[in-house]
Amino acid sequence: MTTKQTQSKKTTTTKPTSKPRKKISKKKLQEEVSNSLTPRNILFASIIGLILAIVVIISNHCERNETQSNCHCENATAPIQSKSKFKDVNSEQLAHAQTNGLKTVIKNQNQFESQIDSLVEKGILVKIKPNKYYNIRQLTHSYPYLTPEARDLLNLIGKRFQANLQAEGLPKYKFQISSLLRTIEFQRQLTKQNVNATFGLSAHYYGTTFDIAYDKYDRRGKSQQDPKVEAILEKTLRELREECRLMIIRESSNKCFHMTVVKRIKD
Ligand SMILES: [Zn+2]
Repeated sequence: MTTKQTQSKKTTTTKPTSKPRKKISKKKLQEEVSNSLTPRNILFASIIGLILAIVVIISNHCERNETQSNCHCENATAPIQSKSKFKDVNSEQLAHAQTNGLKTVIKNQNQFESQIDSLVEKGILVKIKPNKYYNIRQLTHSYPYLTPEARDLLNLIGKRFQANLQAEGLPKYKFQISSLLRTIEFQRQLTKQNVNATFGLSAHYYGTTFDIAYDKYDRRGKSQQDPKVEAILEKTLRELREECRLMIIRESSNKCFHMTVVKRIKD
C-alpha cells in the first residue's frame, strides 16, 4: 500500500459521522407519562376542564334562553341591573346611547341630509318603516332612523306584545312610535335650549332611543284608546326591562315610554 493510499484511507476513516439519535425506550416513555400524572397535575387539569365546561354551558344557555334575564344583564355594554320599574333616568340611558349609537351627533337638517345616505350605506343607521307590529306617527321633531339593534328591539317588542295580547284573548293591535332620531336643532325646538348647550344631552341624538305612545293603539285602520291593551304593552315592556333588553322611563307629559336599546357584548 502506498503512502497516498494510506492517507486516503485515514481520511475516510476520520470523516465525522452524524450523532445517533437518542432512542427513548417504550418503558422510559411509560415511566415519564406515569410520572406526569401526579395527583397535583390531575387536579389542575380537572379544574381547567371544569372551568371550560362551565363557560361553554353558560354561553349555550344564554343563546338558547333568550328570556333569561341574567344573560343580558351580565353581557350588557353599559351598566344595567334587572328591575321592573320604568325609572331609568336620562344619564343612565345616555350611557347606553353613547356607547352603542352615533359617535357624532347630528346638528341640524342640513347635516342630516348630507350624512344620512352614508350612515345607511355603512349600516350604522337603518330606516324605520311601519310594519305588522307598529305604525309611526307623523314626525315633526325626529327622523325615522335607528341603529340596527334598536330596530331589532322594536320588532321584539312587537312580537312579544302580540303574543301577550293573544294570551289574554285580545285581538292584534299595533302600537305607535312617536319619536326616533333627533338632531340638536330638533331637541332645541322641543326644549327651548341653546344649541351649544353641553347640558341636557338627549339619548335621541344617537339612534338608539325611541318613544312608544301608550294612549292610542291601531286596529283595522282605526286609532283607539283601550286600557286593557295599554296594560298589555306595559306588561310586555316590564318583561323586557327585567331581561335588561332596554332602559325605559314613563313620560306622562308626552304619554309615551321613552326607551334606549341595551346592546350585549356578543351582539
Ligand atoms: Zn323620548
